[in-house]
Formats: sequence, C-alpha cells, structure tokens
Amino acid sequence: MAACVSCSTALDPRWKYCVDCGTPVAAVGPVTIPGAIRPEGERRPPVTRVITTPVLIVIVLAITGSIAAFAVAAQWLG
Ligand SMILES: [Zn+2]
Repeated sequence: MAACVSCSTALDPRWKYCVDCGTPVAAVGPVTIPGAIRPEGERRPPVTRVITTPVLIVIVLAITGSIAAFAVAAQWLG
C-alpha cells in the first residue's frame, strides 16, 4: 500500500489526491527517494482560518479606538 509522502496516510490507488492533505497521488510511488521526503516536523495541517487572532485583536482595537475618539469629540462639542 502506497503512503502519502506528506502525511503518511495510506492511499487508495484510485485516489488522485491524498484525502488528508491534498498531495497529488501521482507524486507518490512505491520507490521513495532519500532526501525527497520532508522532515516530519515540517508538515503542517491544511487549516484555513478566515480571521486569525492578531487580525481579530486589530479589529477590536480599531473599533474601541474609534468609539473612544467619538466620545472625546462629543464631549468637546458639548
Ligand atoms: Zn497526505
């Protein structure tokens, strides 16, 4: 049974891509070339997050900052 070079998932011969990480099965064969396989620690899960935590922090700071500026301006105007 062939295994994905990226995540070591067992691959079905009918699959065109690894169901786990999306690596093309065409690049996967029974012959493994030393040095062609990435180190284990380098692989990353294919996680896609629309809003990351730093972006969320910036958005919150922008909103609170604009609210504070509006409050100060309202006080100045009476
Ligand atoms: Zn994979």
